[in-house]
Amino acid sequence: MRRNRARQKEIALQRVEILIEQCTDSAKFDMSIARRQAAIARTLCLRFNLRLPYEMRQIYCHGCKNLILPGMNARIRLSKRRKAVTITCLDCGFIYRKILRSYSEEEQT
Ligand SMILES: [Zn+2]
Repeated sequence: MRRNRARQKEIALQRVEILIEQCTDSAKFDMSIARRQAAIARTLCLRFNLRLPYEMRQIYCHGCKNLILPGMNARIRLSKRRKAVTITCLDCGFIYRKILRSYSEEEQT
């Protein structure tokens, strides 16, 4: 039973990776299909308790959990004052800030 669950997780992760790869391609011609694919991938992650790598997590808005793609429904800016990357969702207006740290600061911590 336990081994079966691990196998299910493995298959789910493969399917999530395929769905996310396809959703970025299909967004070029139909955004509704891309949104549906992203939603299915997210549902699989929640059902099988999967943690996606950072790059894959960034395609979801942290506010409304919808698919966000730069240039389509998201805006990415670099902030000089905060030294951060700002990702704004143009659907719900949520602003996600990723603070950038220099190499010297990272070595100290
Ligand atoms: Zn949003």
